[in-house]
Amino acid sequence: MKKYGEPYLHTEHHLHRVSVCPKHHIPLLQVKIPDKILSSKEAYIERCGEVTAREPFKVRVKIADFMNDLFRDPPYTGLKETQLAIRKRIEELG
Ligand SMILES: [Zn+2]
Repeated sequence: MKKYGEPYLHTEHHLHRVSVCPKHHIPLLQVKIPDKILSSKEAYIERCGEVTAREPFKVRVKIADFMNDLFRDPPYTGLKETQLAIRKRIEELG
């Protein structure tokens, strides 16, 4: 908000199964943006509570870190190599 002068979305907060900010390790909040003001700069967002997740918080942090690492440094290989890399990383993280 301070940097760009208006609210913006972090892609890493919207990756599959991510419910914790990978940078600050705090729970992400769900918000609702009414359709009629989507184009307005005075975007009004309605807070709807934390993003729901079933895992313990420690595991949620690991998932967020893992997905953020994949997002920042994607493997750009075939499906098999990607599956192996994911399996290897899951084993590393426990
Ligand atoms: Zn954050």
